[in-house]
Amino acid sequence: MKLLINGIPTAFVHELREGGLDANGQAPVVRVAEGAGNPCRHCLELIAPGEDKLVLSYRPFPVAQPYAETGPIFLHASDCTRYEGDQLPFWFSYLQPALVRGYDRNDWIVYETGEVVEGLELEQHCRRILEREDIEYVHIRSKFNCFQCKVERG
Ligand SMILES: [Zn+2]
Repeated sequence: MKLLINGIPTAFVHELREGGLDANGQAPVVRVAEGAGNPCRHCLELIAPGEDKLVLSYRPFPVAQPYAETGPIFLHASDCTRYEGDQLPFWFSYLQPALVRGYDRNDWIVYETGEVVEGLELEQHCRRILEREDIEYVHIRSKFNCFQCKVERG
């Protein structure tokens, strides 16, 4: 099975960079990135220490509903290119641990698919979850439950 991994939509990222409001109805906060743990959810690369990042609340679901969790994410404050690929960015293997969970076509969590896994095992867990017919897509999240990216069948 081929995987499809995309950063969050470019049009929405552009809006946020121009002062558009986040999932809480607030403008993104600008901070200087410190340390190594600042993933941009658009290009899926790490924001280098010293670079400006946007900190905002993001709801990675099309509409509000009981399972549509909202949480904090980072984005590069300046232009970057959306990630579109068939494999996970290399640094995801350093997520220790990461959370994976599958969602159905109504964007509800399918509970049996939720797991806490080592970064190096992420891809195999995504594939296993996506083999289920009741699953539309998988979320990879950090150990803090922060949304990292969506994984679909390619
Ligand atoms: Zn970026």
